[in-house]
Amino acid sequence: MTQTFTTPAVKFLEKREKDHFIDGQWRASLSGETIQTFSPGDGQLLAALARGRKEDIEAAVAVARRTFEGSWCKLTPHDRYTLMLKVADVIEKNFEELSLLDTLDMGAPLTRTRAMKKGLLQTITYFAAQAMNWGGMSVPNSLPGSFTTFTLKAPIGVVGSITPWNAPLVSMWWTMGGILATGCTGVIKPSEEASLSTLRTAELLVEAGVPPGVINVVTGLGAEAGAALSSHMDVDRIMFTGSTATGREIIRSSATNMKRVNVELGGKSPDIVFADADLDKAVPGAAMGVFNNSGQICSAGTRVFVERGIQEEFVARFAEFTKEIRVAHPLDPQAQLGPVVSRRQMERVLDYVTIGKEEGAQLCAGGERIGGELAEGYFVAPTVFANANNDMRIAREEIFGPVATIIPFDSVDEGLKLANDTEYGLGGAVWTSNLSKAMKFVHTVKAGKLWVNCYGHQDQAMGFSGTKQSGYGMKGGAAHIEGFLYEKSVCINND
Ligand code: NAD
Repeated sequence: MTQTFTTPAVKFLEKREKDHFIDGQWRASLSGETIQTFSPGDGQLLAALARGRKEDIEAAVAVARRTFEGSWCKLTPHDRYTLMLKVADVIEKNFEELSLLDTLDMGAPLTRTRAMKKGLLQTITYFAAQAMNWGGMSVPNSLPGSFTTFTLKAPIGVVGSITPWNAPLVSMWWTMGGILATGCTGVIKPSEEASLSTLRTAELLVEAGVPPGVINVVTGLGAEAGAALSSHMDVDRIMFTGSTATGREIIRSSATNMKRVNVELGGKSPDIVFADADLDKAVPGAAMGVFNNSGQICSAGTRVFVERGIQEEFVARFAEFTKEIRVAHPLDPQAQLGPVVSRRQMERVLDYVTIGKEEGAQLCAGGERIGGELAEGYFVAPTVFANANNDMRIAREEIFGPVATIIPFDSVDEGLKLANDTEYGLGGAVWTSNLSKAMKFVHTVKAGKLWVNCYGHQDQAMGFSGTKQSGYGMKGGAAHIEGFLYEKSVCINND
């Protein structure tokens, strides 16, 4: 029997046609066209989004420029800080609605999106504190005569932001936080697969007192609205989070006006399990390091390297753990994992399952679309391939779905060599009780965020960035704010 979940009434979805949010107002796309977005839990039509094109981006950027040049960027640091605390308050009060919108839109279980509340509020208040903590410095000089020299920092201007669908609630704040803390303005183009929580957040910001025109949202397709934003001559910086292929396009189009870019891209992160690891921790830790958010996390530890001596036991326990994971409708309060974001993504993941089988990897769990009461949604059973090797496509290409590839290795040096044998450099972890091995891993693996005996923990004060083809530019941490500023060096003749 099919179990149905009644979607709680969401006021924001009473009207299913969703316009752009520009200058604090809802505006239909200038062409009048829309695109459809579906709920991955049941495949039902969720909303019609305005289909933004070049002219909509032009309009939003013009508003963002005008707002930047007005009184907004002249707010004092303390005013900016208190405004951001109000914003945090409003987001907290409306968090239930925002988490529900993400759950309906991109399929992460409500158990997951609700759990993001604390981290999100910490992120907003972390950026609020940064609003009072940026500036230049006085610099001693060796010039002949008497001169005073110092540096000043100033907001860079209009920031364009292009976000993916895997965690909209979080992704948008890497841009919004920096904009509000510095006095920049922005145009955000959320993923066409999951735009709703970004639209609603932009509206809530105005309710919290952020002036209209500071944060504008234009929805639409990447090749249309996204490309128009990244090549726009009056955008000073682009923050992009998404695939490596799109990241290349973004960097190319940034050349139009030499805009600064921050590109946070894909990954194929290694997770190394040594024979001396505590398997009671390593098995669930490594499994959820792949499967969390149905594998749709950029730094997922999808290549699990296991020391050969424990391979058999590890694979058996990993597969057993995987089969126990509760995949369910995203509104089910017991769901650990939900569907993947779209039919297209589900088909892509299932294609990789076929590729893995053809390549000769041993399928130990999952490997199929889930039917029964979940047949209408885009559910893929968490999948484990063992006895794989690092040259297989399932070990080299980002699948972005719930697929783990387990690969045996024989020595510390071989494990570390294989970990680095990838075009990506986003994340990685090691499980061991030996400090020297852990430290060798930390020093040798070329990736932007590393974990020892844990996976995926993130703190806004630490920040992170990729390296190699996983991109560049800090998100979070003290350096984050620098991307929204430029520096002037000033020399005053004292005589
Ligand atoms: P994607 O690259 O297909 O799309 C991301 C965004 O770019 C969307 O808003 C899309 O509309 C837009 N876009 C697409 N083509 C464009 C173009 N030609 N010009 C401008 N914009 C364009 O990625 P996705 O499938 O939405 O997201 C999954 C990818 O994101 C994975 O590769 C994942 O690893 C990556 N990701 C990286 C991080 C990180 O911090 N490194 C975080 C989350 C996701």
